Amino acid sequence: MTQTPLFDTVCFVGIGLIGSSLARAMRKHGLARRILTLDPSEKARKTALELGVVDAATDNPAAVIPEADLVVVGAPVGATQAVGGAIGPHLAPGTIVTDVGSVKLSVIRDLGPYIPDGVELVPGHPIAGTEHSGPENGFAELFEGRWHILTPVTGGDPKAVDKVAELWRRVGSQVEIMDPHHHDKVLAITSHLPHLIAYTIVGTANDLEGHMQQEVIKFSASGFRDFTRIAASDPVMWRDVFLNNREAVLEVIQRFTEDLTALQRAIRWGEGEVLHKRFTETRAIRRAIIDAKQA
Ligand code: NAP
Repeated sequence: MTQTPLFDTVCFVGIGLIGSSLARAMRKHGLARRILTLDPSEKARKTALELGVVDAATDNPAAVIPEADLVVVGAPVGATQAVGGAIGPHLAPGTIVTDVGSVKLSVIRDLGPYIPDGVELVPGHPIAGTEHSGPENGFAELFEGRWHILTPVTGGDPKAVDKVAELWRRVGSQVEIMDPHHHDKVLAITSHLPHLIAYTIVGTANDLEGHMQQEVIKFSASGFRDFTRIAASDPVMWRDVFLNNREAVLEVIQRFTEDLTALQRAIRWGEGEVLHKRFTETRAIRRAIIDAKQA
């Protein structure tokens, strides 16, 4: 359904899975008159152009950033400082800069200093995604029924926050406002730790001897398969997430290790009631996720 455009020209800095999905959704709902991208990847630029996701693509910030009244940073979190240095001098007064990075404190730290007076930074994170990357894998419906977390900066203009919130609502998301520090702690347990566990399990299986490896693949439906999907996620993105949310992730790894040790002990000493109690408690979380329509 086409709606009144919220923005004249949007420029996606990084047109990968998330950037291209939002670009498609903005196109579908008529939320910007023109859609541009700034991306160092020739392949990504070519694909986004060929698929009609963007109207123009370049690796030259001066050619697109001054034109934009909305800039969406969709590059890996580790590239944020480089992005800031590239776009900062070209941002026009009145522009809103938002992002979709999975970590928020580091984005504010790395991008904030490059935002000139008269330009508003509204950091954000869509709780939606897949294990695929690149503009060929994006789709307009990715954000429908999903949460979008905004982590406004101190002293930011509430009107800019409202406008970015409206954008995400119009592409089908529910918006939650959160302190960036709290965001990084919550995501460390709900997203970052599960990915680390998946990478570990699949890595351990990969290190097994040849014949065991074949059986792991053959009998993967017994549980392993679900971990392999998560562990197929983009290595650059996830390297950057762990390096940039180090403190919160190390804290949850510590707690997880203690809980794992407690279960290890229960298994060793045959404490069935400890295992049964734990496994019963965790079922309730699954039911709550299904009830919240986030399954
Ligand atoms: P992606 O598909 O890998 O796309 C990232 C794009 O950014 C690539 O085309 C990349 O080019 C480009 N890029 C790299 N450095 C850049 C720079 N300095 N300036 C401009 N563009 C640059 O990644 P994605 O999955 O969309 O993730 C993008 C962001 O969304 C990340 O911050 C991630 O944490 C966040 N996020 C991802 C998910 C998910 O499920 N994937 C979910 C929520 C949030 P090269 O290929 O040449 O490096």
